[in-house]
Amino acid sequence: MAQSIDSELAELRANALLRQLREVDSPQQPTLELAGRKLLNFSSNDYLGLATEPVLRNAAKQAIDEYGVGAGASRLICGTLSPHMRLEERLADFKRTEAALVFSSGYATAVGTIGALMHKDDVVILDKLCHASLIDGARMSGAHVRVYPHNHLGKLESHLQWAHENYPEARVLVVTESVFSMDGDWAVLPEIVDIKRRYGAMLMLDEAHAVGVIGLNGRGLADQLGVAGEVEIQMGTLSKALGVSGGYVCGSRRLIDLLINRARSFIFSTAPPPAMAAAALAAVEFMLTPAGENRRQVLRRNLAHFASEMPMLFTGDKKLQSAIIPIILGSSEKAIESSQMLAEKGFFVPAIRYPTVARDAARLRVTISAKHTPKQISALCEQLRGLLK
Ligand SMILES: *Cc1c(COP(=O)(O)O)cnc(C)c1O
Repeated sequence: MAQSIDSELAELRANALLRQLREVDSPQQPTLELAGRKLLNFSSNDYLGLATEPVLRNAAKQAIDEYGVGAGASRLICGTLSPHMRLEERLADFKRTEAALVFSSGYATAVGTIGALMHKDDVVILDKLCHASLIDGARMSGAHVRVYPHNHLGKLESHLQWAHENYPEARVLVVTESVFSMDGDWAVLPEIVDIKRRYGAMLMLDEAHAVGVIGLNGRGLADQLGVAGEVEIQMGTLSKALGVSGGYVCGSRRLIDLLINRARSFIFSTAPPPAMAAAALAAVEFMLTPAGENRRQVLRRNLAHFASEMPMLFTGDKKLQSAIIPIILGSSEKAIESSQMLAEKGFFVPAIRYPTVARDAARLRVTISAKHTPKQISALCEQLRGLLK
């Protein structure tokens, strides 16, 4: 046993695919303290700087004083505390849906939701670049799984046609992210909505990297493109731009009632800490304030600044559409080397490798936050330009 584990680890190391934890000894902010060194952080999904925001911290502290630290039981036993209910009401209101349900993580949301809805002989159709949580949910559901190349509408339609011919009675679910987590680009949402409607399929949209960043008050891409009302299952996380932790689904009352009864990652898991729910509620409320709008404007300015210094990354059909900028380098070795070189210069930009992305598409993944200064962004761009030469 020990020997076989050692050889598996050795193989990962030989292929430049071994991953290790790095201890960060500071809060999540543009300057990180890593192994005693200060590094400029261009790797976080805390796009608006809410992870350290005073109103969120205070909401969490207050909830701890009032409700303690642990929820004590699963939601269906006695773990549903007032902060969970207030958060779900606010999320439904924010996304303009009848109801919402919160899970302990985005991962648990994806796996639990797809598993609750889809059964053997149903059909799940996913974009090839969907997050692992969506793929795992589809696989674990036992339904037939079909994958279409990224944003490939023709292939999506042929899968829907196949499902219609072979499983006319089945539930059919199309799953896509709105902003793709490792590429930063958008799903071709209006077209996907049109196709799924023609085939009577449901659409599950994961707005993990769009909520807080895109759309009026940060409601997400579906809102921005005017198709939110057509998305049956609006999923997102509370752990990225919202700065806290957890995941949610917004949708019809009947969808949420079904999830409460069938989503195993919801039913068989202790309710999230009340402080988490209270902080997330403060985050959603922050989105609606002028301060929230200002934060999004600063982020957009920072992104425009990055794009103006790195025009070579945005040629042809490559546009800057989110706070995520991939710099595709190819091999894992090249990505690791580049990441290490940047670390030596004082910048933390992670190398993203297989299995997170395809084997030959290893990359640096730069993320920009509203908390970066233009000077910090210029300093990074100078290093990146050197690297790309
Ligand atoms: C991060 C992420 C998740 C998982 O959310 P967590 O809250 O981190 O568990 C799900 N989907 C996408 C697209 C993500 O990027």
